[in-house]
Amino acid sequence: MGYKHIRVPTGGEKITVVDGMLHMPDNPIVGYVEGDGIGPDITRASLRVWEAAVEKAYNGKRKIHWCEIFLGEKAASLYDGDYFPAETLEACRDLIVSIKGPLTTPVGGGFRSLNVALRQALDLYACVRPVRYYEGVPSPLRAPHEVDVVIFRENTEDVYAGIEFQSGSEENRKLARFLREEMGCEFFDDAGLGIKPISPFGSKRLVRKAIQHAIAQGKKSVTLVHKGNIMKFTEGAFRNWGYELAREEFAEQTITEEELYSVHGGKQPEGKIVIKDRIADIIFQLLMLRPAEFEVLATMNLNGDYLSDAAAAEVGGVGIAPGANISDFVAVFEATHGTAPKYANLDKVNPSSLLLSGVMMLEYMGWHEAADLINAAYPRVIAEKTVTYDFARQMKGATEVSTSAFADALIAKITGNAEDLARFEAARRAAQEKQQQELEAARVANPLEAMKQSGRQPTTAGGIMTKIRGAVRGDETVDAAMHLMREQGISSVLVEPDQGGHWGIMTQRDIVKKIIHANKSPAMTKVGDVASRPLITVNADATLSEVANMLMQHNVRRMVVADNNGTPEGIVSDNGLFRTVEEFGWEPHD
Ligand code: NAP
Repeated sequence: MGYKHIRVPTGGEKITVVDGMLHMPDNPIVGYVEGDGIGPDITRASLRVWEAAVEKAYNGKRKIHWCEIFLGEKAASLYDGDYFPAETLEACRDLIVSIKGPLTTPVGGGFRSLNVALRQALDLYACVRPVRYYEGVPSPLRAPHEVDVVIFRENTEDVYAGIEFQSGSEENRKLARFLREEMGCEFFDDAGLGIKPISPFGSKRLVRKAIQHAIAQGKKSVTLVHKGNIMKFTEGAFRNWGYELAREEFAEQTITEEELYSVHGGKQPEGKIVIKDRIADIIFQLLMLRPAEFEVLATMNLNGDYLSDAAAAEVGGVGIAPGANISDFVAVFEATHGTAPKYANLDKVNPSSLLLSGVMMLEYMGWHEAADLINAAYPRVIAEKTVTYDFARQMKGATEVSTSAFADALIAKITGNAEDLARFEAARRAAQEKQQQELEAARVANPLEAMKQSGRQPTTAGGIMTKIRGAVRGDETVDAAMHLMREQGISSVLVEPDQGGHWGIMTQRDIVKKIIHANKSPAMTKVGDVASRPLITVNADATLSEVANMLMQHNVRRMVVADNNGTPEGIVSDNGLFRTVEEFGWEPHD
């Protein structure tokens, strides 16, 4: 293809997508943007470290062929003032994997920011931030080594959609009128108005990425973060669509946390990932107090924005945090800090953010051996207190080195004794595994206590229901249904829809009343004659208060929980509601 300034290296091969999977040649072409300000310093240093790790890991059998692409000031100087050349976008799509340094946002350039423009143009819908601790890095936590979590933050919806109407504007007045007159909404005069769109499409593709990552990296859980107890149809819907996606596409590989306790007694089945959810505000506390319980988080935009910076601060600050923005396949890895112009070309700053983004990139490419070498070498160099100025000022007895000397120290470790480094990384993983086993032992020993401690807080009918396991037909005998109930240890069964399409339920109490008390034979009576129809149905999103109201209003002891299509998913009972409130407490609401 005819690029104007981009020179695609001839020795390399393009990364491609084959049958819905990345196909990685041994000599892939990878794009890089040097970036502005400190960008050239940290890029130069990082490129040397990545190359050394790849060379060492594969003895020269694999090699990245770098293709420089241009954004920001360097692009402007090459492309007549264009900071965001169209051919750079084309190259990002074509090369699939690229990595970039920080960029200055041109003042008056017509962009909110080049980074935002890039995400939008390439539809990079998942912002991925791994947050893990490297031994020796200054941290405010007591047990920072327990932090090893990857945050998948949605990049296109929520507040990022930017649908806002300024107080006093004509659009604002129009929307306010509509909301008050047509929708019955109440709010103070002159309120600024914003709309927070959350769609099934946007939520599901983000959660899909998070689950795929958990599967590929052998992680044990994915946590959906939301504020669904307050915003049911956006935040709550994100959670519901997340669970729905897991059921629809990953039924073989996942179980819910509900099932972990109710079906498996807290013991995680081999090869299954637990899908759980946590309320957004609680997760901040949990990530500090019980970080080992979280491995992959899937969040909407705003929650993820706060959370990724807060989590990064636990393990050394946003200055060293790596990141990536990813679409279905195209991925742009990036330093998460800015261009720090006062340090430009001084060979002074810390290259860690870009360097570790490159580790993520190697993992994305499936080159784990090279990534592991850097992951193991990095804490060794920090432990020797050979660090750049930013760490040196936080450490006693540190040797302050330049950006390039820090890279040299890393390369010396990587090339020095690879077996030693591999052992070091294996030991770290074994320690993590042991930690997971201890968590599991605690869950199995006292599931209720473990569930409470881990911050689970059921707030909806879906969160407290007993899952339905099978239903019986109306023309089966009561005998057969009783057998099923005993076999599965359940006190009620669902009855498939009658000709009118109404689902039914048959409970143990129905059998006492309508069979034993009525002196009938269970072998001669049909389930349909004993079942209660139609069922009182409650939506999975209903709050615990709404569940209580409906139980009272209809004077029943159990109801069916159905999804948005009316398909039954489980049963809630006054007994279940009582147990939940007794276990987790009850906050009366206004
Ligand atoms: P910044 O460039 O991140 O710098 C703020 C401060 O953070 C620096 O003065 C320095 O602190 C520290 N810092 C940043 N990177 C460091 C590194 N690699 N090693 C050690 N310390 C580092 O933020 P800013 O000054 O607000 O923004 C400057 C420009 O960057 C703006 O044009 C902004 O638009 C752009 N920006 C780009 C991106 C991106 O491309 N992803 C992100 C954010 C901002 P000390 O002064 O304490 O040493």
